[in-house]
Order: sequence, then C-alpha cells, then structure tokens
Amino acid sequence: MIQKHSEIREEVAKLCARFPGPYWQEKDRHRDYPAEFVHALTEAGYLSVLIPEEHGGAGLPLSAAAAILEEIHAQGCNGGACHAQMYTMGTLLRHGSDAQRAAYLPKIASGDLRLQAFGVTEPTSGTDTLSLKTTAKRDGDDYIVNGQKIWTSRAEYSDLMILLARTTPQDEVTKRTAGLSVFILDMLAAKENGLTIRPIETMMNHSSTEVFFDNVRIPAANLIGEEGSGFKYILTGMNAERILIASECIGDAKWFIETASAYARERKVFNRPIGQNQGIQFPIAKAYAHMRAAELMVHDAMAKYEAGENCGAEANMAKMLAADASWAAGEACVQTLGGFGFAAEYDVERKFRETRLYQVAPISTNLILSFVAEHVLNLPRSY
Ligand SMILES: Cc1cc2nc3c(=O)[nH]c(=O)nc-3n(C[C@H](O)[C@H](O)[C@H](O)COP(=O)(O)OP(=O)(O)OC[C@H]3O[C@@H](n4cnc5c(N)ncnc54)[C@H](O)[C@@H]3O)c2cc1C
Repeated sequence: MIQKHSEIREEVAKLCARFPGPYWQEKDRHRDYPAEFVHALTEAGYLSVLIPEEHGGAGLPLSAAAAILEEIHAQGCNGGACHAQMYTMGTLLRHGSDAQRAAYLPKIASGDLRLQAFGVTEPTSGTDTLSLKTTAKRDGDDYIVNGQKIWTSRAEYSDLMILLARTTPQDEVTKRTAGLSVFILDMLAAKENGLTIRPIETMMNHSSTEVFFDNVRIPAANLIGEEGSGFKYILTGMNAERILIASECIGDAKWFIETASAYARERKVFNRPIGQNQGIQFPIAKAYAHMRAAELMVHDAMAKYEAGENCGAEANMAKMLAADASWAAGEACVQTLGGFGFAAEYDVERKFRETRLYQVAPISTNLILSFVAEHVLNLPRSY
C-alpha cells in the first residue's frame, strides 16, 4: 500500500489557492515563467521532498512527490515549470560522488541552485537517444562539449543542467548503450563560455528551448559516475519520471472531471441543468472510470518502485493510461462547457493544451507500446 500523504495534499491545495486561474492565464498569454509559483513551492520545501534529510531535504518517498504534483494539477495549476527538479535530481543522488552530492544537493534543497534543465533530446536523434551527436571530449582537467540539444525545457530558468553527451564515438563502442556520459553543467559559467539558449514557441507555456554548445568547457570533476555509463544512469531515473508525469495527468483528469461536473450541475439550458442529460453525464462518468483505472496502475507502479522492485512495465503503462485518461477527460470537459470551453477565462482550453503534451513527452505513446510488446509480451523488437 502506498501512502496517501493527505496532509501534504491539503497544504499543497492551500498553496495553489494563492495562484488562481487569472495568474496562469496571464502567464500563458505572455509565455512568462511562473517564477512566483515555483518560488512558493521551493520555500515550502515541496521541490526537495526527495532529497535525503542529511542533504537538507525531507527524505520522503516517491509517493510524496507524486502526491504534490498530482495535487498541483488537480487544483488547476501546472508543475511543468519545476517538476524536472524532482526526477533529474535522482541521477545526481544515485550516481554522483559524495563530493558532488555534498556540493549540490543542500543548495538545490534550499533553492539557492535550480536544477531544472535536462539535456537529452537532440534534433536529429529524437527518440533514438543512443544516436545523439553532442560530444564531450576530454582535454586535460576539462571536457569540451560541442553540439545541440532541443526541447530543453526551463533552460533559461535553471542554474544547472543534467547533460547527456557522447564521450566515445558510436563506432568505437563494444556495447550499443556505452559511450555516453552524464555531466552536471553549471549553466551560468557555460553561458559565458559558448552556451547559447534559444526559446521555442509552443502551443502551451512550457519554457522550452534549443541549446547550442560551442566548445563549452566542463570541469572533469562534473562528470557523474563513470565515463561511458551515462545512458544507464539516465535510464535508472526514467521509471520515477514516468510515475511522476502520470500523477500530473491524474491531477489534470481530476480537474477536468470536477470542472465539467460543476458546470453541468449549474448550467441551465431548456430550463434544466445540462447535467441532467445522459449525453452530458456519460462522457464525464466514463472519463472518471478511466481516470480511476489509470490511478490504480499509477499506484501499482509506485508500490513496486518503493519496494525496490522492477516497475518498468507498470511505470510505462501508468504513464500511457494516465495521459489517455487526462486527454479523454479534457475532451469531455470542453464538450460539457460548450462555447465556454474555448474561453481563456475558464482555464479549460489552457489545461486542454497543457495535458496534450503528455501523449508525446517525456516519452511518446508508441514507444511505450513498443516497450510493452517487447518486454512484457516477448514480441520481436520493432526498431
Ligand atoms: C514541450 C516539450 C518539452 C520537452 N522537454 C524536454 C526536456 O526538458 N529535455 C529533453 O531532453 N527532452 C524534452 N522533450 C523531448 C521529448 O522527450 C521528445 O519530444 C519525445 O521523446 C519524442 O521525441 P521526438 O520529438 O524527437 O519525436 P521523434 O522521435 O521524431 O518521433 C516522432 C513520432 O514518431 C514516433 N516514432 C518514432 N520512432 C518510432 C518507432 N520505432 N515506432 C513507432 N513510432 C515511432 C514517435 O512515437 C512520435 O510519435 C520535450 C518535448 C516537448 C514537446
């Protein structure tokens, strides 16, 4: 049984009440980063719940982080501006040296350093991470990085980046997964030393960017773990990432269902509430049933994760089912509100755009289905 963390949820809901719809509408309109919201979460210690107590965090299990993100989304807010801190930090926590953990984790926990950027995806490699082209070449006490990342969210609002780069050319490695390394990049220093960030305009406010590396020097001391083992380190964090994103989707689905139900109870057309029509009730009820089923899978994945068991299949399926549930709930909500589903002041159209992302990122549905086909059903690898 995973913990419900009811007290945390209540406190997060109170914090979210300070950031109502008009706050998010304004940020969305101007594509502004919700700095005040992120600051409030940091101050309250929510972004450091997974950091061990010895390093200044709360040392709570993954279910606490999931409860926080789910509640943020269920309250109509969005965790996209800061959720990466929770899961990218795991790479440093699990694979960083004692010196690296001592240097960074307390400052991340206190909010003095923001670890929000995660540089994996590249324009030419896409989902095929192993063919990424950004290189890091050893030069004395440094590595020199050249290449480009894309979709590096929050790069403009982060002090550190977890960066995956190739340290051994692909044709010189014995194992397909070898030759990639993970670095913790000091972005402030790098910006004065060959790093350029360009924002990408997107359909929702997500602070995504392209990042260009032109002979950027990173001290060798910032290599995490062993050179060449970086892909393995990134993979170990993926299950936590899937479970946390799935929790955000469950939160979105709850918000859509609650918003649709409330509107359907109040709105009168033909002298009776629209919610009295089965044509309005059934899509909302169905969305609720799908959300609850997806939530069970999220809990199953989380229980396995917290017990230290392999939860790859459950984490992937939870992410897919929860993303599907939030999308279906969004669709039912837009339909229930009729014309007002399209009006910015009701927040439905914003949440609708925001939740669409989770069908694609951080992993797209097709790749999840490929994972299940290959690793659960023992079908031949399709790519
Ligand atoms: C807003 C946003 C924020 C993001 N933030 C980050 C971030 O912070 N850091 C980061 O590193 N990345 C980030 N990403 C990147 C994200 O993880 C990728 O977009 C996602 O993994 C898909 O990769 P791609 O866009 O290159 O699609 P592609 O790999 O080009 O795939 C395109 C389509 O083809 C399908 N496809 C590809 N190969 C197969 C196959 N073998 N079988 C079946 N279908 C296939 C995919 O499922 C997809 O639908 C972000 C993306 C977005 C849109």
